[in-house]
Amino acid sequence: MIESYIKELIKEYPNFPKDGILFKDLMPILANPKVYKLLINKMGQSSICKRAENIIAIDARGFLFATSIGLSLEKPVIVARKPGKLPGNLIEESYELEYGTNALSIQKEALLNKDNFVIIDDLLATGGTVSCISNILKKEGKKIIGLSVVVELLELRGRNKVNMEVDSIVKY
Ligand code: AMP
Repeated sequence: MIESYIKELIKEYPNFPKDGILFKDLMPILANPKVYKLLINKMGQSSICKRAENIIAIDARGFLFATSIGLSLEKPVIVARKPGKLPGNLIEESYELEYGTNALSIQKEALLNKDNFVIIDDLLATGGTVSCISNILKKEGKKIIGLSVVVELLELRGRNKVNMEVDSIVKY
């Protein structure tokens, strides 16, 4: 049910932000609070989100889902941000995206006294972004319970790359 509501709202933009990419725009979900709430509840009810004590939110669209889930489950949210955005002592790691390269960093302090995490993002494509976070967490000796995303692009096989339990609401 929720799957069809979500698919109806997601708009596709060919060749954005560069040629060959069929961009899935999830922003209309936010403009529909009933569906957005159903989605947040559904993601929060997954076994991965229930078992994890902490949430990693991925810059930037991941924030929109991770923070709402964090609030509803009353679990701490730690952000992974693009370069130049976070102050303090950082753990940084670079990665390849479906359309380019980037890097993500997490504040060391934010991970103190936290053992296990669910990673939350809007969409799983090649899995590069999530693998980057996973490398950071592993380096710090942290446990990854799994990944929760709204959309999974099956043909890119990100699920195989990330090598963790994955929960996705809609699949293309
Ligand atoms: P990847 O690292 O390849 O799994 O890419 C995942 C990240 O890139 C997510 O944070 C998405 O926001 C973004 N992304 C990648 N491909 C698309 C796409 N086709 N439509 C919308 N966002 C995408």
